Amino acid sequence: MHGFSRAAKAGMATAALSAALACPAAAGAVTAGPETAGPETAAAAVRPGAAARPPAWCRSGETLSARAMPQKVRIADCDLRGRAVRGPNGLTAVVPADGTSLVAHSLRTGGGSGLRILVDDQAGEITITTRGGRVPEGRPRTSQAPQDPCRDGTHRLEPSKWAKGSAVRWRYHSGTAGLPRWAVAKGVSNMVLGNTDCTGQGRFATPPDIGERYSGESDSGPNVTTDATCGTRDRVNTFGGKAMTGAESDVLAATCIWFIGTRTVETDMALQEHGKRWWTDGTCTPGSYSAEAVVTHEAGHVFGLAHVEGADHAKLTMAPVVAACDNGPATLGKGDHDGLIALYGTR
Ligand SMILES: [Zn+2]
Repeated sequence: MHGFSRAAKAGMATAALSAALACPAAAGAVTAGPETAGPETAAAAVRPGAAARPPAWCRSGETLSARAMPQKVRIADCDLRGRAVRGPNGLTAVVPADGTSLVAHSLRTGGGSGLRILVDDQAGEITITTRGGRVPEGRPRTSQAPQDPCRDGTHRLEPSKWAKGSAVRWRYHSGTAGLPRWAVAKGVSNMVLGNTDCTGQGRFATPPDIGERYSGESDSGPNVTTDATCGTRDRVNTFGGKAMTGAESDVLAATCIWFIGTRTVETDMALQEHGKRWWTDGTCTPGSYSAEAVVTHEAGHVFGLAHVEGADHAKLTMAPVVAACDNGPATLGKGDHDGLIALYGTR
């Protein structure tokens, strides 16, 4: 899908240049240059007397399409840092230019999708992978009944996590629709404290060794753009509402995770205020979504959990499935808790 094979047709490079702009299939052919891929070719690509010319797909001033480029891009061929890349699932992110890598998640009314951008400055390579295509991950494909979430230990981990035993400091941003702080705070603490219906105490007996601390309001808001793109980070973990007026209409929330190596350095979370209504207290108005439930799910990403796919896991909080007026994801299943224990151990 990402053109490993197309990129190997290096000999076609020059001939394809002029025709490649509007044709992703041809554009993939212009990326590799005359040499085969390898660490020694970065310097060799710049020949004396011939200035290195970026491939056609790289020369657009607009958001770049991941479909038109190889999955692994050499910075010498096209320096993507600071530029916006859109995955085939519609998810977009600005490639970090500060030495960090990035995972972007969006939760949609019909499932979820992810975009992972690994920036390796030393190797001079940027690798882009996506999850969730036209059929978002998590959308039930069979009539299989979901497993009992108190027995379903399934979990998947992000490539990065916070330091064991640390407290993640976060700021709240109210947005324009007045998403209440308590709903955000409750969702974040649900994940760390192991809020569940699976035990008589309402919590799992062994909390993970990771904490969180509210540290005030943020005027500037999460580093998510109005089209639900992960933007440029500001070193503050900001969670809250945002009117993402340019986002696809099924987007409920977006979370961005920046990391170096395997260590998370910043996370931002935005709940969609444009065209979506949030249920925070009282009786749920039909068509609105539980803010606490969605924040609990997004907080799973903040602490290092990825989506679990498939209809049989649909009752876990980290399944990218939330229906209107459904507050089920606010209570963790076994797999959600097991995932945090796998990341941080027990307190
Ligand atoms: Zn998600």
